[in-house]
Amino acid sequence: MKFQLIDSASECCLAKGLCERIGIDGSMITYAPEGGEKEKNVTPMPDHTEAIRLVLEALTNSKTGVVKSLDEIGAVGHRVVHGGERFAQSVVIDDEVMQAIEECNDLAPLHNPANLIGINACKALMPDTPMVAVFDTAFHQTMPEEAYMYGLPYEYYKKYKIRRYGFHGTSHSYVSNRAAQVLGRSIETMKIIVCHLGNGASVSAVKDGKCVDTSMGLTPLQGLIMGTRCGDIDPAIIEFLAHKENKGIDEIMTVLNKQSGVLGLSDHLSSDFRDLEEGYNRGDENAVRALKTFCYNVAKYIGAYTAAMNGVDVICFTAGVGENAAIVRTFVCEYLGYLGVKIDQEANGRRGEDIVISTADSRTVVMVIPTNEELAIARETVKLV
Ligand code: AMP
Repeated sequence: MKFQLIDSASECCLAKGLCERIGIDGSMITYAPEGGEKEKNVTPMPDHTEAIRLVLEALTNSKTGVVKSLDEIGAVGHRVVHGGERFAQSVVIDDEVMQAIEECNDLAPLHNPANLIGINACKALMPDTPMVAVFDTAFHQTMPEEAYMYGLPYEYYKKYKIRRYGFHGTSHSYVSNRAAQVLGRSIETMKIIVCHLGNGASVSAVKDGKCVDTSMGLTPLQGLIMGTRCGDIDPAIIEFLAHKENKGIDEIMTVLNKQSGVLGLSDHLSSDFRDLEEGYNRGDENAVRALKTFCYNVAKYIGAYTAAMNGVDVICFTAGVGENAAIVRTFVCEYLGYLGVKIDQEANGRRGEDIVISTADSRTVVMVIPTNEELAIARETVKLV
């Protein structure tokens, strides 16, 4: 559970941190006040309510806290993964919204129930503070029908709303808007491809400020090869594997979600691109295979979305891998000669800033924009309360 306290006037982050291993042994909270020392405390967190209590305690603590009391916190913005077709925008959370989020549980069984637990924990501790839900799917609700429909019997869409939804919307929205701002151009007349490459990874096509296609689907399993998720595969593999390995559907889904991606491709070397890069540099064939296949897939999506928008002005890299792994950006861009992409390797080696990494004569602009989902969530929250 990640958190930040943001001053809405200055948009400065006053404190940030995360709670890990909630509900299991060795749970710990990391807390870093702006300009202060980062501290890590191993402390029992049997559930999310206790985790949130510890976060609020850290924020108001007389020594390292950044506010005197909880009254100074004007609102809480929650990242909610799935808003289905119901939520194309962020909303102030009330009982009806809670119910609607719960109704989307089927669509994101790993995420939405956890999001509800987080909201309930905050409501219990801050009953009078307004809460806002910011949906990961909302930004993608502008996709046209031809981009979000699957080639399945239409009745399944009518009955179960089976369609592409897309995720990481807050990040895709933030990064595309920030790219336009950094370039001093209006997003209303731009074609932007955002590659959000983290442990979960997705690409989106943003035309004139609106998402027109994205690589994740009904669930975050579709699209790119990810850290541990398989991304696009032939759906018949599921039946084939079930027979060969004598596994049930739940076991197969665990393989596809947790043991695949670059972890599986590298023959279980690692899902972490730092390890893969290190492996690549020493010529480890498992690392080479994983990195090359991952980058080829990203490049194919860029090609597809260039077609979807009839061109592309700017390609942005973001998230843990996109922001840090220069080698991934280099390999992906090697496929983009047809777009006139030329990379400035000095700029590509820099980190932690909004930066153009293509050369002045590159026909398509390539950028790294560190994502800031927390700030995007804070902005949405301020807008609504
Ligand atoms: P995210 O899901 O956006 O937090 O991204 C997490 C992933 O980013 C990690 O699992 C790593 O694979 C990758 N990552 C983080 N730091 C680096 C780095 N310095 N170099 C390469 N990959 C990194």
